[in-house]
Amino acid sequence: NLQVLLRRRPQGEPTPDDFEIREAPAPEPAEGEVLVRARFLSLDPYMRGRMSDAKSYAKPVEIGAVMEGQTAGEVVASRAPGFAPGDTVLGGFGWQRFSAVPAARLFKVDPDEAPLSASLGVLGMPGLTAWVGLEDIGQPKAGETVVVSAASGAVGQVVGQIAKIRGCRAVGVAGGKAKCDFVTGELGFDACVDHRGDLKAQLEAACPDGIDVYWENVGGAVQAAVFPRLNDFGRMVMCGMIAEYNDASPRPGPNLMACVRKRLRIQGFIVSDSGWQRYGRFRAEMLGWMRDGRMRWREDVVDGLRAAPQAFIGLLKGANFGKLVVRVD
Ligand code: NDP
Repeated sequence: NLQVLLRRRPQGEPTPDDFEIREAPAPEPAEGEVLVRARFLSLDPYMRGRMSDAKSYAKPVEIGAVMEGQTAGEVVASRAPGFAPGDTVLGGFGWQRFSAVPAARLFKVDPDEAPLSASLGVLGMPGLTAWVGLEDIGQPKAGETVVVSAASGAVGQVVGQIAKIRGCRAVGVAGGKAKCDFVTGELGFDACVDHRGDLKAQLEAACPDGIDVYWENVGGAVQAAVFPRLNDFGRMVMCGMIAEYNDASPRPGPNLMACVRKRLRIQGFIVSDSGWQRYGRFRAEMLGWMRDGRMRWREDVVDGLRAAPQAFIGLLKGANFGKLVVRVD
């Protein structure tokens, strides 16, 4: 069995020496497992994370272990009901020719529906990523502008095309003219911005009505350029920040990659949007807590309207202690 192992953890950009290639005996499927011969192996950005032992949402690949990855291929032997030699499957495991995989982790696919490799891309994890992220977070509505970074890539291609299907203006961000031409010409995005050029000016021209949904695949300079152009009630789908995966030390400022790793939801709001419509319910509940002694409050009462300016100046510096109010004389 030809295998690619992780030899050591890369510092910054991975190098070939971080991997080891070896021949090993093919695995024997245990009860409930299926032996899969890989025809295609998917290579994906998340694998950079698995090579590192930094705390993340998934366990790292151990040193000396087969690199993690999904394959599509065919069943050569089966000890699980529902799978027979010759079946075409998605879900083989690792950077290796043969893998023994629990049947529950395999999807049988019909090889006549689409080319097998598509089950690792548009019909696979990246396509599913695009579809789920738009449905759950992006929620594009007809007429909105959707910007997608790494637009010519596995996830980005699908995001922009779904946005078009939903009636949006789709704007890609990609590196270089060939990729940008593909994104507009082949994929049918309305525009594509080359992140090697003047991002700010290009984004302004491509998004005259601002940006309603930003699909973040990249981070770095692209994120910085897109962020100030988001419209009111815009949504940012935090999918990945590949531009920063090889960083050896953290960049200054908050790192929004935590949104991906920890599935954070960061959402702003303005109380007046819909708060006062709920004032009655709020007031009743709050009065109850106050009466029951479950709510305490502290006020900082300043005497006289003349004291208001100084008190206000102090508020911005922490001179108040509790809710600042003026007792009007
Ligand atoms: P792609 O096929 O898009 O390949 C990566 C692309 O990223 C490159 O082609 C390049 O495109 C772009 N890129 C790389 N480095 C930089 C950089 N320094 N600055 C700007 N662009 C850069 O990969 P995928 O579609 O598989 O993945 C895209 C993103 O989605 C990744 O961040 C990945 O981690 C994330 N992801 C997240 C998932 C999730 O569940 N949250 C699932 C799957 C993927 P270009 O030359 O155009 O810049």
